[in-house]
Amino acid sequence: NDAQVKFEELTELDKKHFLHPSTSIKQHMENGPGAIFTEGEGIYLKDVRGRKLIDSLSSLWNVNIGHGRAELGQAAAEQMARLAFSSTFAGNSHEPVIELAKKVSEWTPGNLNTTFFTSGGSESNDTAFKTVRHYWKVKGQPNKTKIISRSLSYHGVAMGATSATGIEPFREFTTSLAQGFLYVDSSIESLKDLIEKEGAENIAAFISEPIQGSGGVNPPPEGYFKEVRQICDENDILFIADEVICGFGRTGEKFGMDLFGVVPDIICMAKGISSGYAPIGGMVISDKIKNELMENYEGNFWHGYTYSGHPMCCAVALKNLEIIENENMVENVRNMGEELQKGLKYLEETHVIMGNRRGIGLLGAIEFFKDLEAGERYSEPVSTKVVAKALDRGLLGRSIVYGGQDTLAFAPPFCITKQEVGTMISIIDDSIVEVK
Ligand code: PLP
Repeated sequence: NDAQVKFEELTELDKKHFLHPSTSIKQHMENGPGAIFTEGEGIYLKDVRGRKLIDSLSSLWNVNIGHGRAELGQAAAEQMARLAFSSTFAGNSHEPVIELAKKVSEWTPGNLNTTFFTSGGSESNDTAFKTVRHYWKVKGQPNKTKIISRSLSYHGVAMGATSATGIEPFREFTTSLAQGFLYVDSSIESLKDLIEKEGAENIAAFISEPIQGSGGVNPPPEGYFKEVRQICDENDILFIADEVICGFGRTGEKFGMDLFGVVPDIICMAKGISSGYAPIGGMVISDKIKNELMENYEGNFWHGYTYSGHPMCCAVALKNLEIIENENMVENVRNMGEELQKGLKYLEETHVIMGNRRGIGLLGAIEFFKDLEAGERYSEPVSTKVVAKALDRGLLGRSIVYGGQDTLAFAPPFCITKQEVGTMISIIDDSIVEVK
């Protein structure tokens, strides 16, 4: 039929001309694209062959308000018709960027009030790494350059962001990375030992996601960030929160660090700020950092992307945050988060091979074990097979196998209903039965 012909034509062109991110080139040439999407609405995506799939990860943990919100398209079109672009370099500005910076400061905790805009999460983290190094230089401590990050963290793919990423395949992909990055496991003792070994006088910052996303939806140990905050304060180490996934409501709080009662010195953001409708991210700094850079340094902030504060992206982000606020979506995340956790508990109780259930808000994960008590794994991950079966049943899923785990991850759009959570869980349930 027509749809199949169209799919095959597009498949050939895709294979010939498009290099996919985070995809095996060889396998892609053999298998072609899994789905070629054409439209979306709410928690659903449709593809060119007419399949309707539940987007159980909000695509890349980013389409938070859900698909198909035409208001964002209208906001983009209006802004582009009025002012498609003007530079924010050399102190120039425009209304959407000013309004968005103000709006972000209403969302961020403590005295984090000033935002530098980027096009995404990687750029935001690279910006933060350069900013903390600049900060210590301005403060007369140019040796404070090293950045500590955690194992299984994901911070993106720009040179600094990859260097900070704890998931090893991303770092091993290339030969040399940025210098001065250190990795630590999730114990407080290891952090203290590392600081002792390297010397606090050489360390600029610690970076962490509140709950690790791509590394497997890993919440921190009990009390972890409170202690980290204290250690950072005692050692003059800046605390950067990578809120690219958790920020703007994903966990049921405004920011993930709010869950732990911790205020970072810098927050990096992207994804949820625009729900993926436009590429935009940002780095928000505290008044303390801003004042230091203002009072004790005359030169330029020698860092800026052409698209720092792109007017259309800012207009889209503003509309997105307005929708999240007006439709009480963060509250829905809390309520539907409980449904999701209940659903994962049901899976765990129904299937003896499942355990290590975790998550909060609309962020959840569960793992497969051959023998749960012994922690023994299957030789081939079960999660990938379940995801393949779930696709046939109408769910686009995500399996995570980094670090030897065998995890199914969930992060559906904030607009999900109780019934839709139920459908999602029952598709997974049936898919597991089929795989067994
Ligand atoms: N930080 C975190 C926690 C992320 O999850 C991601 C993307 O998945 C990034 C940074 C990188 O963001 P981007 O892909 O927009 O560069």
